[in-house]
Amino acid sequence: MDSVYLDHAATTPVDPAVRAAMEPHLGPLFGNASEPHARGREARAALEAARAVVAEVFGASPRQVVFTSGGTEADNQAVFGLASAAPGEHVRVVAGAVEHPAVREPVRMLERRGAEVVWAPVDGDGTIDVTRFAGLVREGDRLAAVMAANNVTGVVQPLEEVAEAARRSGVPLHVDAVQAAASLPLRFSHMGAETMAISAHKLYGPKGVGCLLARDPERVPPLLLGGGQERGRRSGTENVAGAVGFAAAASLLTGSGDRRAELRDRLERRLPPGVRAVSAGAQRLPGHSLLHVAGIRAELLVLALDREGFAVSAGSACAAGESEPSHVLTAQGMPAADARCVIRVSIGRHTTAAEVDRFADALARCAGALAAGALAAPAAAGGVR
Ligand code: PLP
Repeated sequence: MDSVYLDHAATTPVDPAVRAAMEPHLGPLFGNASEPHARGREARAALEAARAVVAEVFGASPRQVVFTSGGTEADNQAVFGLASAAPGEHVRVVAGAVEHPAVREPVRMLERRGAEVVWAPVDGDGTIDVTRFAGLVREGDRLAAVMAANNVTGVVQPLEEVAEAARRSGVPLHVDAVQAAASLPLRFSHMGAETMAISAHKLYGPKGVGCLLARDPERVPPLLLGGGQERGRRSGTENVAGAVGFAAAASLLTGSGDRRAELRDRLERRLPPGVRAVSAGAQRLPGHSLLHVAGIRAELLVLALDREGFAVSAGSACAAGESEPSHVLTAQGMPAADARCVIRVSIGRHTTAAEVDRFADALARCAGALAAGALAAPAAAGGVR
């Protein structure tokens, strides 16, 4: 029986139409987009056409699109760029407590370099507390960072209110939209954000490409210095095939959850005893279901399910077999012991009802066997992307 992929929040397969669009740029159209000759101009035209599509899909203007190597780079550039300061200057940053490490780690680096960092709390479902956020951002802050939707829980943040609070204090807002972009209609120009990060591989595009949308790219200093590509915002020979694939994937987005929400609800209606959906009361991404499986370590369950042909991820980061509870779950008040017992199921465009039903059966079997001690402990599982 074919294996069933239910880890679309980690990455998605490249859509055949995306691969077809990229192919010429991995073959005959190989030019360097910065060269003035015909091959270069051909590549440049493809890159600029891709930029126009990405801008159009996400409600930005082409000059606001800075292509990057993906979400991590875009997040890092936004954080380090917006918070850059002269030596000795006081820097204060407010960031959501449940941000992805691609935002959290650069913010922590700023803190180690002397910045004052305030983590904005979330409620028991993982939704940012807008009133407290509004009380925390202050005039003069260099940056506020709040993600559009969470990679662990799938919880969608109230961005309009967040942006309004940041705007009232005149604080530039960075939005990590890496998880949200595959499911929610995102209009950068209406969002009130200074910058927004998107990654192609979460939306049926290739890995290793994404973009930073910046209201005014001049305000976001580059992370990478070199040949001055991307109007000086991101040096490095342009990844034309990647940008073309990103644009092709973006143009396939419908801005809706298609059947994913329906399938997610179907799964959650079929959960075996002892399994519950986390953050089920919050607004969530349509295909996202984080499941707490009472008393069963996530890394064991992930590997047991893998042996049955189902790919899901653990909601905890695992190093050397010892799982660390996710900061996302502890921030929303889940005890560490429970946070080690969650798996993330993420449904994709092509997931079927039959696959969801088979998964629910396998989950019951594997959880039951682990609870009875019938399955041996395997080596290790990865963390949550
Ligand atoms: N931000 C979020 C919310 C993510 O889920 C991820 C990837 O898992 C990233 C950033 C990093 O994106 P990339 O894999 O393109 O570097």
